Amino acid sequence: MPAVTIAEAVLQAAARLAASDTPRLDAELLLAHSLQKTRTYLLTWPERALTAAQYADFNELVTRRAQGEPVAHLTGHREFWSLPLLVNDSTLIPRPDTEVLVEQALALNLPEHARVLDLGTGTGAIALALKSERPGWVVEATDQSAAAVALAQANARQLELSVRVWQSSWFDAVVDINSYDLIVSNPPYIAADDVHLQQGDVRFEPLSALVADAGGLSDLRNIIEAAPAYLFDGGYLMLEHGWQQGEAVRELLAQNGYQQVHTWRDYGNLDRISQGLYRKPNSGEGGEKCHE
Ligand code: GLN
Repeated sequence: MPAVTIAEAVLQAAARLAASDTPRLDAELLLAHSLQKTRTYLLTWPERALTAAQYADFNELVTRRAQGEPVAHLTGHREFWSLPLLVNDSTLIPRPDTEVLVEQALALNLPEHARVLDLGTGTGAIALALKSERPGWVVEATDQSAAAVALAQANARQLELSVRVWQSSWFDAVVDINSYDLIVSNPPYIAADDVHLQQGDVRFEPLSALVADAGGLSDLRNIIEAAPAYLFDGGYLMLEHGWQQGEAVRELLAQNGYQQVHTWRDYGNLDRISQGLYRKPNSGEGGEKCHE
């Protein structure tokens, strides 16, 4: 039997992955991983033959993908904000929509050495993207899961980005009050009975990173209520939430005294990121002020 070429292998796999939203992309990412090459290599050398071992290895991955396993779990990595992140099943797989949060955080007019805290950092995606763009910022990150903390630390190390990561359930082990110019989070926000939890990649991600009580709002509410104590006067809170939660999150921000409350839409044109600015009630004279 003549050896299978790169182009043939991709075509065969894409046909087997017809149930995926992105069969060809999945096939290319898995083949590039099997060959330890880039996708550009595949497009440049479509006529090159696979060895029998490469073909077997690739087919094994395609079979697992056809059974639903996320591409990022099969390859062990995912790109976020052009950073190659290590990924495993202890955290959420970074999503493109979360890049909107990064964009908006970078658009804030923060001081050069702003202190920034990412709660529930998972892979470290948001914290590392911010640090890569603003090396002067002091970026810190927490996660309640020890495995996530280890993963985020491994990502910081491999990207040579200095972000301190420690274990904390939301603010429980955050000691510095009145200290942050910006607090960001992509907390769990899906309702436990959401049918979407039975579909696609989320089936392979930890429920602790996806699901929250109170119809998905409980962690968002906790963070909104607790953050003022940790922010500088005039500091920002910026949160990712579900596409139907924009109004509820804006209301929670307003009820808790945040100003300049605003929501941004994701790449699908759905409410996804909301922010508020917090001014300390008696901050006229002598209150904690924002960094220079
Ligand atoms: N946006 C993700 C999804 O809908 C969920 C992310 C989260 O719960 N923080 O799959």
